[in-house]
Amino acid sequence: MTAHTREFDDETVIVTGGSSGIGRAVARRFGDAGATVLVADLNESPKGDEDRLPTHERIERDGGTATFVETDVSRPTDLETVVEAAREFGGVDVMVNNAGIFRGGSLFDLDVETFDAVYETNARSVFVGTQAAAKDMADRGVSGSIINTASISSEYAQTGHAAYDPSKAAIMMLTRVAALECADADIRVNAVAPGPVATQINTDGDGSSSNTRDLGKENPMGRRASPDEIAGSYLFLASEDASFITGHMLYVDGGHAIY
Ligand code: NAD
Repeated sequence: MTAHTREFDDETVIVTGGSSGIGRAVARRFGDAGATVLVADLNESPKGDEDRLPTHERIERDGGTATFVETDVSRPTDLETVVEAAREFGGVDVMVNNAGIFRGGSLFDLDVETFDAVYETNARSVFVGTQAAAKDMADRGVSGSIINTASISSEYAQTGHAAYDPSKAAIMMLTRVAALECADADIRVNAVAPGPVATQINTDGDGSSSNTRDLGKENPMGRRASPDEIAGSYLFLASEDASFITGHMLYVDGGHAIY
């Protein structure tokens, strides 16, 4: 009898921001599909009330292989360290640059420190994470996949988003430049652009929210997605079925981009 194989058996996947929300769902799905998962986040425990078991423990409980690596993506050395840590498991095959924060503020009231904090966490981290993973994949000669979490905010501006929207626009273009530069090495770089998702991000770190519009009411489907409805697109982009897809931004947005 042949052993049951799963799609990502023998692959090592790093998911930044993997302790909560979209990253948590992505990490679980890769774990369920056989991957060795490195959950790279500030915190081991998820935010919110939903199943508080840390992601890596949940994956291990279900028969997968997973490790938590304490990581602050706004610190370049932390990202380099997590890519190095993946070498213990054969090296990174799939890098998911997903961690992000939202801080509200208009052009007229946002301070430069907040702008920098959002940019460093959301956008500069994608540059550093993509660079570290791509170099490692190229050094090992593997055809890897890098997937960045963009947003409908990468292309659609909102008032009060003077830091967040530019940081997400940068991810869209970083994805395209990286796709161009990695193509020769057979490393694909893509982005997922979620519409509104029911997660913790829309709080300003203290439980309050300065994100006043409810985009969930503004897409044709008239609701927010669950993180699980977003996660499958990452597995698709990392799979053999997407072997000719690079530099693409995949909207998973309930039709928001139609408007
Ligand atoms: P979330 O708050 O549930 O999860 C974000 C995770 O990132 C948390 O686990 C948090 O600890 C981690 N994180 C934050 N700063 C970090 C840092 N400096 N280093 C390491 N980890 C850090 O939110 P989410 O909605 O799941 O967000 C994930 C991504 O999806 C973000 O990039 C966000 O911009 C993007 N996104 C979210 C939505 C939405 O409506 N929720 C829509 C489009 C895009």
